[in-house]
Amino acid sequence: MIQCKDLTEEASDYLDGDLPLRKRIALFVHLVICRCCRNYLQQIRSTIKTVKVLQPKEKETIDTQALAHKLHALSCKHD
Ligand SMILES: [Zn+2]
Repeated sequence: MIQCKDLTEEASDYLDGDLPLRKRIALFVHLVICRCCRNYLQQIRSTIKTVKVLQPKEKETIDTQALAHKLHALSCKHD
């Protein structure tokens, strides 16, 4: 029997369709009886969607910021 922690571990594979049919069915059955995991899966779905949409822009911003912080830290040390 699938438990909540199993679903947590398999959630991304489940959404990608990377699981064998037997496992998919087991997870699906758990989702039917467990509202908690349904919400969890829903959250993951929307997170993946958001990340996919935002990633290119976001990544560039983060890298630039990280570099700026690093440079700032370096220059502060030398002061
Ligand atoms: Zn559950």
